[in-house]
Amino acid sequence: METKGYQCSNCNYRFTPKSAEKIPETCPYCNKPETLERVKGAQDYLDEISTEMQEREKRESV
Ligand SMILES: [Zn+2]
Repeated sequence: METKGYQCSNCNYRFTPKSAEKIPETCPYCNKPETLERVKGAQDYLDEISTEMQEREKRESV
């Protein structure tokens, strides 16, 4: 399974929340708010591509 995580743009601390619904608002390491950015894994890129392709197909079939 792909590991998905978050990275702090302030201290570069990277972690994976236990639940995707419980993402802390502050960095657990440096405690700065609004610094967390989602780290994209390969599966995320694949999802984006397949979504794009599906939308393109929808548009062309209409
Ligand atoms: Zn931090």
